[in-house]
Amino acid sequence: MDALLFALVLSAEADAAPMMDAEPVTDVAPLLEAEPPPDASPPTDAAPIAHPAAPANPLPAFAIARVRTHEPVVALTFDACATLKQDNGFDREVFNILKREQIPVTVFPTGRWIETHPAEAKELAAQAWIEFGNHSYSHARMTRIPRRKAIMQIELTETIIAELGRKSVAFRPPAGAWNRSVVRLAARRHLPTVEWDVVSGDAGGHIAAARIVATVLSAVKPGSIIIFHINGRAPHTKEALPDIIRGLREKGLGFVTVSELLRRPDAQPVSAPPTPFGYAPLRDDPQEPKRPQGTVDARPPS
Ligand SMILES: [Zn+2]
Repeated sequence: MDALLFALVLSAEADAAPMMDAEPVTDVAPLLEAEPPPDASPPTDAAPIAHPAAPANPLPAFAIARVRTHEPVVALTFDACATLKQDNGFDREVFNILKREQIPVTVFPTGRWIETHPAEAKELAAQAWIEFGNHSYSHARMTRIPRRKAIMQIELTETIIAELGRKSVAFRPPAGAWNRSVVRLAARRHLPTVEWDVVSGDAGGHIAAARIVATVLSAVKPGSIIIFHINGRAPHTKEALPDIIRGLREKGLGFVTVSELLRRPDAQPVSAPPTPFGYAPLRDDPQEPKRPQGTVDARPPS
């Protein structure tokens, strides 16, 4: 099936079946009962899977929030979210700051973002300091869609990224919604599932630049993974970024991509809390499913 046909199928299914009405992924239920593995414990129920970026290590059986490391490095990550109905944009000023500073970063576009921003996507792919992650095709809530659709969300975006001459280094589930089934699906593609431990809070523009700077600089630690957005819906990121970069450097922290962070010799991945419904939704995302009453996911660690 080619990419266009995939897209048509996804589109038709999205219209016909809202995610909250979708049948649950068949093997989710027992996994949701499982306790998250304690920090730094090796996975016990996942077969070792070779990964080109980290051949010596099996992929963890959980979503990675950060790594424990003694090395003074952090990973800046930028999501480029777009849905079937909402293209969003590209924050060129953020790109220009990163390019000028030559900060290695990991960008997580949805397949749909690449399709709606072909020139910008090619420009990103031409930068040696940028690596790509997979952020699903249409920003689907991966824990709330059938397995078959979840597989397509990952596969289609891998195909689209491959057309840019790149390969993903990780999978980042939209809204951070993950369970072990999602992690396993990403692992089929040899992708670790990577979230974050430091939330810049830039999405939506509700938080001023000064507070974004203060939040990041107070929460960061060696091995942190920091989430920002580069899809034009985080208007204060460009204002906050220079001070964040300066502040991190003053703390003696250097910048690495996510794959480089996971490859540090002493890196021990730390699990993100399981979040079957995802973290706080974007306020104006029309595709955001409503949570069932009484369900509150853990907040991101900070
Ligand atoms: Zn996103």
